[in-house]
Amino acid sequence: MLYVQGLSTHIGKIQILHSIDLHVHQGEIVSIIGANGAGKSTLLNTLAGLYFPSTGKVTLEGEVISGLPAHKVVRKGLSLVPEGRQIFSNLTVKENLLLGMYSRYYKEKNQAKDHIEMILDMFPSLKKHIDNLGGNLSGGEQQMLAIGRGLMSKPKIILLDEPSMGLAPKIVNEILEILMRIKKEMGTMIILVEQNVKAALKVADRVYVMEQGNIALHGTPEEISMNPQVKSAYLGIK
Ligand code: ATP
Repeated sequence: MLYVQGLSTHIGKIQILHSIDLHVHQGEIVSIIGANGAGKSTLLNTLAGLYFPSTGKVTLEGEVISGLPAHKVVRKGLSLVPEGRQIFSNLTVKENLLLGMYSRYYKEKNQAKDHIEMILDMFPSLKKHIDNLGGNLSGGEQQMLAIGRGLMSKPKIILLDEPSMGLAPKIVNEILEILMRIKKEMGTMIILVEQNVKAALKVADRVYVMEQGNIALHGTPEEISMNPQVKSAYLGIK
């Protein structure tokens, strides 16, 4: 289980996150929605150790991970798939995947093959391109590669920052199906940050709505989609 209690983050002198409380149970997909600038990416980046929180505590399966640098957070079992994918265009699919495993298995290189096979079973479209350069993949395949790379460290929880960005609806659906398989077959907890609110509600077990660095609402997808404020602001329903 991931527990976040009273988490605040400042960037420079500006407070971006204001005492965030949230949790993710074993086997859950939790979606976080909110307008541009609400603080969703800052929250994920803080959880991943890229920003140091100014207050609060984060525990993953009982171990405190807040305040650790990013490379140690990965070793504790939290993996971030950043906004914009950030795969290496000049490396092959296989090399990109291997980079995701480095922090955990740097002493166990012979395990690489098994892990890559496991990931490729999840993403058949990557299998076809295993020796192609990352830069030659389509946008959807690059996103799958970014998620596959995030899974290579065998995380307990994976955080995805806007995986649907710039992708056609059909590809977005493929990615959502993969997320449901990851949850079911690998038992990985998932936090999904999305501007695509319909997609976020479709796969989530629970949803948090962020506004101006705060959690404004939380509930089941059914509860959140019935909320009048969410309906008009995010779903275009009056
Ligand atoms: P988006 O969907 O646009 O990425 P978001 O909800 O992820 O939005 P953040 O990117 O976390 O929001 O940004 C939250 C606030 O923090 C915004 O007001 C943004 O301008 C500010 N901010 C984020 N990163 C920095 C930074 N490096 N320096 C200064 N301000 C920042």
